[in-house]
Amino acid sequence: MASPRKTADVVVIGAGAAGMMAASTAGQRGRGVVLIDHYGKVGEKIRISGGGRCNFTNVHATHRNFLSRNPDFCRSALARYTPRDFIALVEKHGIRYHEKTLGQLFCDDSALQIIELLKKECAGGGVEWRQPCAVQGVGREENGFIVATDQGEIAASSVVVATGGLTVPKIGATPFGYRLAEQFGLAVVPPKPALVPLSFDPELLARYGDLSGVSLDATASCREGRFREALLFTHRGLSGPSILQVSSYWQQHGAAEPIHIDLLPGSDVRPWLASQRRSKVLLSTLLAERLPKRFAQQWCGANGFDKPLAELSDRLLEEAAQALGDWKVQPSGTLGYNKAEVTLGGVDTRGLSSKTMEAAAVPGLYFIGEVVDVTGHLGGFNFQWAWSSGYAAGSAA
Ligand SMILES: Cc1cc2nc3c(=O)[nH]c(=O)nc-3n(C[C@H](O)[C@H](O)[C@H](O)COP(=O)(O)OP(=O)(O)OC[C@H]3O[C@@H](n4cnc5c(N)ncnc54)[C@H](O)[C@@H]3O)c2cc1C
Repeated sequence: MASPRKTADVVVIGAGAAGMMAASTAGQRGRGVVLIDHYGKVGEKIRISGGGRCNFTNVHATHRNFLSRNPDFCRSALARYTPRDFIALVEKHGIRYHEKTLGQLFCDDSALQIIELLKKECAGGGVEWRQPCAVQGVGREENGFIVATDQGEIAASSVVVATGGLTVPKIGATPFGYRLAEQFGLAVVPPKPALVPLSFDPELLARYGDLSGVSLDATASCREGRFREALLFTHRGLSGPSILQVSSYWQQHGAAEPIHIDLLPGSDVRPWLASQRRSKVLLSTLLAERLPKRFAQQWCGANGFDKPLAELSDRLLEEAAQALGDWKVQPSGTLGYNKAEVTLGGVDTRGLSSKTMEAAAVPGLYFIGEVVDVTGHLGGFNFQWAWSSGYAAGSAA
């Protein structure tokens, strides 16, 4: 026998960061909310985030920390629900936290505390959970929507889609949100893995693969994305914060152009090399004063620079100086969704209201969080987008 149809004001699909924020916000406004997730555990991405301590926001978050086809889209939501607002919630729940670096706030103890916070806020709004519960489809009805699930149908005037991106598929990621958007005629900017390690082709790997584990302070850039943070060699290519950050821009611009790496940021390389022009010391030995020795040797060897400075031709010395400030590296690809922290692209913001996240052409249908074409830098920005966009939809749905 078919289960009886249930009625709710709002159905939220996806009980991750954005979905729980939207559900609790709508529930606390007095809306009857059903929150559905197909996965067995609550808030898995939050649990594994920030090395288990959840980098839950960044005090410096502005629209400039996000990539999107429409970089201004996130402004309104971020202004209406700021990092300060989420910090106030964290403090209300007595969660101790600290700033690690560059405005990044982490829990002192555990990311599980953020999940508990969100569950309590949902309970405070009387949110009804259905988890695990598979959504079979969403259809339009005269006064709203019918959400078909493996636990029966739910009729609702609003549906909030918070199914996230495609990263880490083994903990519940699906393309459901993109398909639903397309079903309702919304455009989707093709998704790609971002904040992701980059791979080398066999030739580059033969040159630099055995540097795996070596890290250095570098500035990595691709077009307008420019980040000075650690760079790490891996057995597959490059990683570390500066590379993860720049990977998003590399992906956004078609993954076709090289990444530019300043190996000695803040150093005036030419006068330094010129001052040692007559030295019998190998260039790699000199560079090892400012770079990891293994890297200096490998890099000089691979590029034909490993000679005593006095024996390097003017042309080669100039080439070395140039490459130290702008080492051009062409990655062969990324390590994909299993290793990516976020998904670039998603539901095209041109079809959504920046104030409420509601689809302009489908009143009552909302998209929030990572499923939307708004992708943050590394450092707490992606969660801030989940909170801000979740709050925006939860205040309107
Ligand atoms: C390893 C890792 C570490 C990270 N660390 C940080 C960090 O420290 N700081 C930061 O800001 N960001 C971090 N991020 C990014 C951040 O986790 C995400 O941007 C954020 O979780 C997105 O929130 P969301 O609610 O949109 O999606 P998600 O948190 O991914 O939630 C989506 C939910 O939808 C559910 N779902 C999917 N498909 C369906 C379906 N068909 N039916 C029903 N439910 C469905 C999923 O089970 C999931 O519960 C990290 C990401 C990873 C992978």
